[in-house]
Amino acid sequence: MARLLEYQGKQLLKTLGIRIPDGQAVGSIQEAYDVINDIHFPVVIKAQILRGGRGKAGGVKFAKTKKEANRAIVSMINAEILGQKVSSLLIEKKLEIKKEYYCAVTSEPSSRYPIIIFSTRGGINIEDIARDTPDDVYTKKIDIYSGLQDFEARWFLSKIKTLSGPELVLLGDLQVKLYQVYRKFDCRLVEINPLVLTSEGLFAADARVEIDDDALYRQRELPLDSVDEAGDRPPTKLEIAAGTIDRDDHRGTAHYVQLDPFGYYCKEMNLIPIGFNCVGTGASLITLDELVPLGFYPINFADTSGNPTASKQYRITKIIFSQPLIKGFLFVSCISNQQLDNTARGVIKALRDLYPETDGKPNIPVVLAIRGAWDLDAIRLFKDCGITEGKWIRILGRESTEQDAALAFYELYQQWAKKNEVIGI
Ligand code: GDP
Ligand code: MN
Repeated sequence: MARLLEYQGKQLLKTLGIRIPDGQAVGSIQEAYDVINDIHFPVVIKAQILRGGRGKAGGVKFAKTKKEANRAIVSMINAEILGQKVSSLLIEKKLEIKKEYYCAVTSEPSSRYPIIIFSTRGGINIEDIARDTPDDVYTKKIDIYSGLQDFEARWFLSKIKTLSGPELVLLGDLQVKLYQVYRKFDCRLVEINPLVLTSEGLFAADARVEIDDDALYRQRELPLDSVDEAGDRPPTKLEIAAGTIDRDDHRGTAHYVQLDPFGYYCKEMNLIPIGFNCVGTGASLITLDELVPLGFYPINFADTSGNPTASKQYRITKIIFSQPLIKGFLFVSCISNQQLDNTARGVIKALRDLYPETDGKPNIPVVLAIRGAWDLDAIRLFKDCGITEGKWIRILGRESTEQDAALAFYELYQQWAKKNEVIGI
């Protein structure tokens, strides 16, 4: 998920004319004081993390004096809030709030339309409003061809009897701009909660912006590391590195995500961490259904599909092997049109880089189930370079099943563990 931090999202809103409070993001106490000297008290100090609900968790604090500001800054900077490390703070001029609203534009998968969601109950989680007082949530589909016009937004808002004429004008204008942000930056969600009315007009007091992962290639100027499926935690270094692989080469895809980056899950469940790479996610599911009950766990998921180049395969293989916790590597391809000889070239080059003393023969258990187009060539390449003479590598061909691959890995691991006196299964 490509989510921006609050201050980054606010900058996007600003480019289309949505007003945001005066302020700046900072990374140190000294920088924070410099900003406060510029904007003057009272200020709001906000932890920049990829989580909502910061207010309740101590991640949003107000300060009228230097003492209060100091206390707030020290309590937040480099602390952990809602499970995330706070490495930057947003310091903003405190708004004098008259009214709070909720406003968002998002993609609605069921109707396949962008929709506006609006509520006069700002500052509360939209899920909570929808559950407790669903009548307070107003939605409108937007026609992607004609976009959103001022008069349509005002008409939509005019259903809400408590809004005054001037509010209709301000909010209608805001919604038009918010939809423009959504379109221009290929967003999946642009949410302002709360959207705040002050004596000077409307301001975005908060911003949550998520970019559509599939559009990242055309949003390169955004401060985002292209990462697949990292969920709502920040991407790891290896995920960021892997994200550049697709960005630099459009041929085929290479998805990589760390499922258990620190091995906590493996430890808790008493599973052996391994590196994993598949061609085709269906085959991976079947394989893992066989493998996990045998006591192993893929601490990463990687799918290299759609006929990637050898260089892509090379890079992703090196990333998988860069996980220090892994005690083995399993590769499984499904039968597809992917040219597995290219895949093999990438894996071989990576293994040679990783194990130069043995000319590519790995020192941890490695099983490759090579099945599909050009599979015989791929297997021949492994033989020709001598890697298959290694003690800890097994290559299975097109006659093998996912169960065979899992069992072959299990057996090889047992031999390896015995030889290396590893305690485990
Ligand atoms: P969240 O809890 O992570 O969604 O963080 P928000 O940025 O939404 O801040 C939490 C709450 O703090 C908001 O709902 C507002 O009620 C309040 N808040 C945020 N900024 C300001 C501000 O500038 N002035 C005032 N008075 N309240 C603010
Ligand atoms: Mn908020």
